[in-house]
Amino acid sequence: MNALLLTGGRVIDPANRLDASADVLIIDGKISAVGKDAAAQAPADAERLDVQGHIVCPGLIDLHVHLREPGQTAKENIATGTAAAARGGFTSIVCMPNTAPAIDSAGTVALIRDRAEQSGVVNVFVSGAITKNIAGEELAPIGSLKRAGVVAITDDGHCVQNNELMRRACEYAKMFDLPVMDHCQDYSLVTDGVMHEGYWNTALGLRGWPSAGEEMIVARNILMAELTGARVHCQHLSAAGSVALIREAKKRGVPISGEACPHHFVLTDAAVAGSEKFWATDGKPLLALNSQLPGAPKRSEGGSTPDLPSWPSYDTNFKMNPPLRSARDREAILEGLADGTIEILCSDHAPHCDYEKEVEFDYAPFGITGLETELALSLMQLYHAKRVSLPDLIAKYTVAPARLLNLKKGTLGIGADADVTIFNPNQEWVFDRAASASKSKNSPFQDWKLKGKVIGTIVAGKKVFIEQPELAGVQ
Ligand SMILES: [Zn+2]
Repeated sequence: MNALLLTGGRVIDPANRLDASADVLIIDGKISAVGKDAAAQAPADAERLDVQGHIVCPGLIDLHVHLREPGQTAKENIATGTAAAARGGFTSIVCMPNTAPAIDSAGTVALIRDRAEQSGVVNVFVSGAITKNIAGEELAPIGSLKRAGVVAITDDGHCVQNNELMRRACEYAKMFDLPVMDHCQDYSLVTDGVMHEGYWNTALGLRGWPSAGEEMIVARNILMAELTGARVHCQHLSAAGSVALIREAKKRGVPISGEACPHHFVLTDAAVAGSEKFWATDGKPLLALNSQLPGAPKRSEGGSTPDLPSWPSYDTNFKMNPPLRSARDREAILEGLADGTIEILCSDHAPHCDYEKEVEFDYAPFGITGLETELALSLMQLYHAKRVSLPDLIAKYTVAPARLLNLKKGTLGIGADADVTIFNPNQEWVFDRAASASKSKNSPFQDWKLKGKVIGTIVAGKKVFIEQPELAGVQ
């Protein structure tokens, strides 16, 4: 028998409405007991981990991750991507199907599940493509993808433009009880835009990607969900109008949902103009938050700030799809998260090689890494900024994605898989992308002082990441 006892932590399990100081007993990879009497039930030879002062919660789930395997393993592979997930506190991730080949057949699903079994350190769930080769022309075999084990369908990275095809996809998905996840982008409106269409793209001379390009497809998806009854999930929401549309549709009972990524509710398009411009404009609210921290960087009046994170203008680590938007959009995303319109948090972890990103802004691929910074950034902007309670924040990373994807995860209920995340919401650290477990280093949060640190990640009772020295002296 394999037994592990976590003692003295604050256990927050939103699925069971639990928030209490409690012990957690894990036996043979399952949750065996939670509460004051858990220690009494532990076998004498159980390993003990003192997690006093830390939060203990169901293992976090990130439903939007690009693992790049098969076909693009110079950027990332299942071993490195899942190692980054473990460091970020994630015990389950959903990989996107825009690999090479795309995940549009049962064979590719089987290949990834096999590789994940061999080289993954966290649970890997697979999403299948909506259309063959993600080309948006012909439906993928959704029934056989479901039988092969996909938990959702999406053409992420691309967006089905043909509304009739999207309708059929929704009808099949409903038949097979799969959610349809959509990267919302109207190609005719966005064309070759590379950043948010607003003040900064004009000032910088870069082609604009208007908010309406996202909102148009969010509106389409609401109509499709209403028409077909399928559960449609809008990925990486960035625009104020998208939040308003989903809020209104949910009131009418439409089966629509949305997710947000930290970069969209931390940064704005001013970041593309460089750190000086960002900290002088849209970065100010973040400084106010930071200044409450002991030893926080102080911004001298009008002067440069050597102790704040800095980056040049046109830094391609600030290029992602959808793009960073205005401060007003950022506020709307934060409001949507606070009032429950947006139920799910995720990274859209999108690794790219240095040589791919080290080109002119126009030519760089979209996307940034995010698995190792997303929990801290979410804690800072939502919990520390007093917008969302800790249990509500944890729910957006656990029970909410589990519910959308019909996963038996995201809970510390007795008998559940012992996937557990231990973190300290108050611990400060500085992110250094060179130390990341990911193969790629394309993060815009280099040198950021973050508040909230993952201390331990446990998958099926096995410690896959332990932060030293916080849990040093472990038996
Ligand atoms: Zn996408």
